[in-house]
Amino acid sequence: MAAQILDGKETARKLREVLRGEVEQWRAAGGPQPLLVAVLVGDDPASHVYVRNKERACEQVGMASRLVRLPTTTATAQLLSLLDELNQDVAVNGILVQLPLPAGIDTQCVLDAVHPTKDVDAFCPENVGLLVQGRPRFLPCTPHGVVHLLAQYDIELVGKHVVVVGRSDIVGKPLANMLVQRDIGFGPRFANATVTVCHSQSQNLPALTRSADVLVAAVGRPKLITADMVKMGAVVVDVGINRVDDHLVGDVDFEALREVASYLTPVPGGVGPLTIAMLLRNTLTACQQQHR
Ligand code: NAP
Repeated sequence: MAAQILDGKETARKLREVLRGEVEQWRAAGGPQPLLVAVLVGDDPASHVYVRNKERACEQVGMASRLVRLPTTTATAQLLSLLDELNQDVAVNGILVQLPLPAGIDTQCVLDAVHPTKDVDAFCPENVGLLVQGRPRFLPCTPHGVVHLLAQYDIELVGKHVVVVGRSDIVGKPLANMLVQRDIGFGPRFANATVTVCHSQSQNLPALTRSADVLVAAVGRPKLITADMVKMGAVVVDVGINRVDDHLVGDVDFEALREVASYLTPVPGGVGPLTIAMLLRNTLTACQQQHR
């Protein structure tokens, strides 16, 4: 069996086209140009690339973006006072704090300080709580990208056993919280899953992953998921992004899994492009909600 590749790059391109049309319509009806502000602290090279990609994507759909760069020596209090200004600025619709923040900064405290209505990453406690209750203000970007990609290929989730490897607040936990809902905006066929979340303390990971109809790897370890850990015909979504010898690779052994999985995401070109597109989706939603 040769797995069908889930093309995140093309899916994201189509989504950006849709968003471009929605932004045009919104502005034609008198709405302001949505503005996303990215806050970048320090000089992590990967973060610079991510922020540049986000700025470029904003441009492509007709949204405005602004980058605030701060030195590594920035104190938590300085960052909090910047966020306070951005929270109060009515021209700013979405605020993104690029992670990771330098070691000396209290990341949780900073993320909590983004106003919930501008928290387009959906990281703050109010937005996490709304998601858990099944009435999200914004869907978290990477999990949203995963479900969008599956829905585009008409891969149903209802009643399926989805195993998520990784329990981060950015990917694993919010994805699990989305998939157990009755409907998270894609219709009941793309929700209502039975979800197992695995992490570094899970016992017998291969047995757990082999029980998955849909397996999502969000760990950050190259080739952690090998062919013997996957049931024949399972859908495999690789969220991992790892740099190995100047190449980007995911968390799954892509070549070996091509012969086992029914559908498989590549890295790069899988979930990554959709994460950025969903950030744009949330920024437009934020702008529309703020001007209702
Ligand atoms: P993270 O915060 O480091 O979390 C990693 C998770 O993996 C943790 O829950 C950890 O368990 C678990 N884990 C580590 N080793 C394991 C093992 N041997 N077996 C089972 N579980 C294990 O990472 P993250 O932020 O979720 O990111 C995960 C990966 O996705 C990274 O490669 C990141 O670059 C990538 N990512 C991609 C996108 C995208 O757009 N495609 C977006 C975000 C992240 P513990 O909790 O027990 O430590």
